[in-house]
Amino acid sequence: MAPVLRPLSATTWAWVQDSTDWGFSNAGVMSSRGVSLLFDTQFTLDATRTMLREIAAATPDSVIETLVISHQNGDHTWGNQLLPDAEIITSAASAEHLCHEISPEQLTQLSHSHGTDSISRYAAEHFGRFDFSGITVTQPTRTFAGRLKLTVGGVSAEAIDLGPGHSAGDVALWIPDDGIVFSGDVLFDGGHMIVWSGSLTACVESLDTLLATGAETFVPGHGALMERADVVAFRSYLTEVGATATAYAKEGIPLPDAAARIQAEFSGNRAHPERLFTATAGAYADAGRAEPLPTLELVKGMADLAYPAP
Ligand SMILES: [Zn+2]
Repeated sequence: MAPVLRPLSATTWAWVQDSTDWGFSNAGVMSSRGVSLLFDTQFTLDATRTMLREIAAATPDSVIETLVISHQNGDHTWGNQLLPDAEIITSAASAEHLCHEISPEQLTQLSHSHGTDSISRYAAEHFGRFDFSGITVTQPTRTFAGRLKLTVGGVSAEAIDLGPGHSAGDVALWIPDDGIVFSGDVLFDGGHMIVWSGSLTACVESLDTLLATGAETFVPGHGALMERADVVAFRSYLTEVGATATAYAKEGIPLPDAAARIQAEFSGNRAHPERLFTATAGAYADAGRAEPLPTLELVKGMADLAYPAP
């Protein structure tokens, strides 16, 4: 489905891809009195240009002075270079993690390696369609910890440092006057959670922080817009996965076997059930039964679940 710039109030828009596939992320815009704030860019330069064109049409004569980044995954940041004059803000924890992220060149190589191992197959299937050429990974210019109050023309917002959860450092944007939260990837609509940080408990805590704002509308990192009840349901799903995985950890079941069982039990209607490997690994790390796994091992765990041996 083609992305749309959806007005949520007189001064706030959501860029909604409404996709459960990897890489098609949502974003947000606030615009008032000639200045704008953008929350996240897109995976490719072309996708970001398309979004910026739509934003320019909806907010004529307004300049994007501020870019708030939810976390360092490429699908939220690899268009940053197209806003060379904007201040790029993220949390200190998020900024610190940038050096551990896979680069556009590495992802291109992995997706086009034609390897028969599970990681290469998974990368080709989900990332081979994207053109990452021309991307210069662009650093944040300002970091913060805790809460950061922002003013966009006549509107207020707050960037919230959620700490680790989906990634090593996640940031949400809370707009009190609109009752809207842009969550980044601590929330997925229609797809399974990805836990890169190595802690499933931290993901649940992030959701508690978002719910505590009192917001009624949540723009997840991926998928369609969500209401409070949807966020509560997503929280329940994470806690149930966590409780089951913790029980398996205590029984001494090896992580790959536990992840396969969790996938069988919790696939439901969400896309990408293989991502349950990352949630299981997060619960195992929380339970002290495993070290948090690096990104490529998490991808291998997902790929092995997606392509089980015959
Ligand atoms: Zn994402």
